[in-house]
Amino acid sequence: MGMLDGKKGLILGVANDHSIAWYISQALMDAGAELGFTHLPDKGDRNRMERRVRKLAEPVGAKLITPCDVQNDEDIQRVFAEAKEVYGDLDFVVHSIAYAPMEDLRCPYLESSREGFHTAMDISVYSLVAVARAAKAVMKPGGSLVTLTYFGGEKTVPGYNIMGVCKAALDATVRYLAYDLGESDIRMNAISAGPIRTLSSSAVGEFDKMLGLYEAMSPLGRNVTPEEVGQSALYLLSDMSQGVTGEILHVDSGYNTMGAPGRGASQLAGG
Ligand code: NAD
Repeated sequence: MGMLDGKKGLILGVANDHSIAWYISQALMDAGAELGFTHLPDKGDRNRMERRVRKLAEPVGAKLITPCDVQNDEDIQRVFAEAKEVYGDLDFVVHSIAYAPMEDLRCPYLESSREGFHTAMDISVYSLVAVARAAKAVMKPGGSLVTLTYFGGEKTVPGYNIMGVCKAALDATVRYLAYDLGESDIRMNAISAGPIRTLSSSAVGEFDKMLGLYEAMSPLGRNVTPEEVGQSALYLLSDMSQGVTGEILHVDSGYNTMGAPGRGASQLAGG
């Protein structure tokens, strides 16, 4: 018997088969869950986004594959109304979405534009508020939401720039939403994942250096796998974590717990 047998949920944030959301989806489906998916609406490029998500979600029998731009409140309302129609009340929602304009991500935070800041905050942070509000209306008591964050919101990670500030706001959003949703017996948690190669992470400056740093610095001496992030999401979305909310669960080989390089110091120095 699977941990999520009979449970139904919605996944926001699959772009392709490298997306963290897709690895989470696989862990949830392996545990028996039934999933619906959203994709970024296409803007005239021959339905590239939709095709990529359909290619993954149709073979696993998803009954709902629908566009959603989280900057659009009507889209969010429609998606959850559709989900309710197809699945009835939901047990869980995964929010695995972030975006900053490239010029604002690639420049020092000091140089970020006002417009880029608004866009990055809207898509990467406010979207969770809007999604959680819409989700609450169609979620069962005992329901659970998970979002994805990164350590660059807790400490300065050069190259992460504006997205670090977004993640700091996202972490606070998780705590405040956990309080507001707790009244309805719905939980809100985040996974702070170590660096993983995806479409989004390829836009982050010096990403390869980060992978090396985690190998050298972390207690486990390696990077995490996206499958490990999927398993942790399964825990947070299942009844195994019934007493856990407002939590930022670090799935990062323990990197965040280190205050000095330890065993990997010589590796870092190139020795
Ligand atoms: P990804 O590019 O596969 O996923 C990002 C998703 O955001 C895509 O599906 C994209 O379509 C979606 N998105 C962007 N703008 C949107 C909008 N306006 N409306 C709806 N969807 C929109 O990359 P990923 O690495 O899987 O990222 C998922 C989450 O994980 C992000 O929040 C990211 O910050 C976080 N994260 C990633 C890493 C990493 O190293 N890859 C580490 C920690 C946290």
